[in-house]
Amino acid sequence: MAKKAASVGSGIDWHKRLQHFEARHQAVVDTIREFVEIESPSDHKEACDRMGALLAAKFQAIGGRAHIHRVADFGDNVQIDFRGRSVTKPVLLLGHFDTVYPSGTVASMPCRVVDGRMHGPGVLDMKSGIALMFYAIQALQEWHGGLPRPVTVFLVSDEEVGSSSSRKITEALARESAGVLVLEPAAGLRGAVKTARKGVGEYAITVRGIAAHAGLDPGKGHSAILELARQITAISKLNDLKRGISVNTGVVHGGTRTNVIAAQATAEIDVRIKSAKQAAGLDRKMRALKPYDKHCKLDVSGGINRLPMERNAGVVSLYKKAQAIAKHIGWQLEEAAVGGGSDGNFTAGIGIPTLDGMGGVGDGAHAVHEHIVISELPRRAMLLAGMIESA
Ligand SMILES: [Zn+2]
Repeated sequence: MAKKAASVGSGIDWHKRLQHFEARHQAVVDTIREFVEIESPSDHKEACDRMGALLAAKFQAIGGRAHIHRVADFGDNVQIDFRGRSVTKPVLLLGHFDTVYPSGTVASMPCRVVDGRMHGPGVLDMKSGIALMFYAIQALQEWHGGLPRPVTVFLVSDEEVGSSSSRKITEALARESAGVLVLEPAAGLRGAVKTARKGVGEYAITVRGIAAHAGLDPGKGHSAILELARQITAISKLNDLKRGISVNTGVVHGGTRTNVIAAQATAEIDVRIKSAKQAAGLDRKMRALKPYDKHCKLDVSGGINRLPMERNAGVVSLYKKAQAIAKHIGWQLEEAAVGGGSDGNFTAGIGIPTLDGMGGVGDGAHAVHEHIVISELPRRAMLLAGMIESA
């Protein structure tokens, strides 16, 4: 039964729970290191499958039942079901084990601890989040002599590349769940949970022009590069930062040689929207682009991949519960709205209460200085355990 936020966790010794995780902090750190040292770039199936198999085994060792969802192009997605002592709906713990780092990165960016911070590829986004799931489940089993309610852990292999293989499963599992806790990194060093995320889309614009010799026949060519440059300028005018719409041409390629008028050029564009209502309008504008040079042809592909995670009533109710739990140890848990998307966008988008940013605290996700703050781990684990009970 749903508990009122204000009464969440009364009667529990939260300081004792915090101490439980403080006493185990080295084990948590060792587990995170184990995860980070197994590299798992999204585009490397074999590497991802190695990581997925280890995770399945690890969660099975504490009583979960693993179900491997086979995928041809990406790593297999890993679902682990835990039975609970009550027959309430499960809580879905959602995460991903793919990273943006190519194989071999760990050699130049090794997993190491410096000044209370643990560095390494994917340590923040989001291998520490997976370790938190593991230790929160284990602690609840110990405290209650078994999990108080069913828990579904779903770890996907392709979140960093759009979740095409896992999205349907994520949504189906969310529909069966009372709530979704996403173990993506917290926002900022104050460790805010994420109650709103922008929607994300990706487009590609390909221009086909007419090639010609730049010296002999300059008048005969119709440059795809020139046309694309004009399109990029037009697209940049779709930026509307006040309304939370941003459009970025992040990649361009085209042409073959300096003495050839280019026959082809392509731009790849990232778009972000703040509300679901903005999706259709922006998509229409992208598809309505017309060539300035009538001899050039435009092809627009792509679309909005993740609708925004809006701060709806379900999101707020989970945040209030999390805040109430944090308060028991004098922790003012903040919330944040962020520009990045996650699989939480999918689950919130279909109306399932979702709280994101429950994972590690740190900085530098996707960057060479990616790290977590080790001293934050115990209270994150304590919060997660409490949320599994009360979501
Ligand atoms: Zn992530």
